[in-house]
Amino acid sequence: MDLGIRGRTAIVCAASKGLGRGCAEALAAAGVNLVVNARTPGPLEATAQALRAHGVTVTTVAADVTTDDGRAALLAACPAPDILVNNAGGPPPGLWSDWGREAWQAAIEANMLTPILLATAVLPGMIERGWGRVVNITSQSVKGPIAQLGLSNAARAGLTGFVAGTSRQVARHGVTINNLLPGSHATDRIAALEENLARSLNISREQASEKRKAEIPAGRYGTPAEFGAMCAFLCSQHAGFIVGQNILLDGGQTNVTL
Ligand code: NAP
Repeated sequence: MDLGIRGRTAIVCAASKGLGRGCAEALAAAGVNLVVNARTPGPLEATAQALRAHGVTVTTVAADVTTDDGRAALLAACPAPDILVNNAGGPPPGLWSDWGREAWQAAIEANMLTPILLATAVLPGMIERGWGRVVNITSQSVKGPIAQLGLSNAARAGLTGFVAGTSRQVARHGVTINNLLPGSHATDRIAALEENLARSLNISREQASEKRKAEIPAGRYGTPAEFGAMCAFLCSQHAGFIVGQNILLDGGQTNVTL
């Protein structure tokens, strides 16, 4: 399917690895020019080089997207994107009793305020030009809380509330905002969660991996490529009537009817 976005420009945050990279790959394959971001320059440049094989322009911005300076650097490199894919690292696991003000502020900064502030910066231009797509990578924890990811449950729910209200205010200008909710995907993040589970249950990493996969109706982890394909579709010309939605990509793991 031709996604109808060849020649458009996208900012993809936190995109040197994992789900962000999956989104960047799918957008590059659709002919979208990219500004990609991560903190560590080496892997970011390697990813950019791979993305250029699609024949698109790829600019790198090595910066922490959760800081004011990082976001300013991204917007300076691309002041008028057609597409914004918001992403950042997830908060650490733990128990509700572990987290004080500092941990909460970091989670809210990274997983709620960062995507809100970036969207707020680019939405006026998208509205003026009559076309735009914002996709936020959130988590299945928004639909069904994950006990050890309390920081994620809460901070991402705050972002979800912002999207629910704002998406309906900008839709008439040809601008859509939606959230993609990953369940377990085969990325470095999942490797860290497996190690955490193995330690807490005193089992091997392999056993932890099998245990996690057994809880997923699809019987496996998702892939960054599958995730990226859905992101590119949400950014496509065909997705203009999808507004303020929370789309689960979790192999059926979240046990809900709607
Ligand atoms: P990942 O494989 O660990 O990749 C994270 C990417 O983000 C890397 O490119 C990393 O590069 C970059 N990054 C991290 N923090 C950043 C920051 N502050 N500023 C700029 N770039 C940053 O993670 P992932 O699995 O793709 O997860 C992406 C998001 O989805 C996370 O928020 C995660 O919590 C959420 N999620 C993932 C899953 C899953 O199964 N994978 C499930 C639910 C939710 P640098 O380290 O060089 O910055």
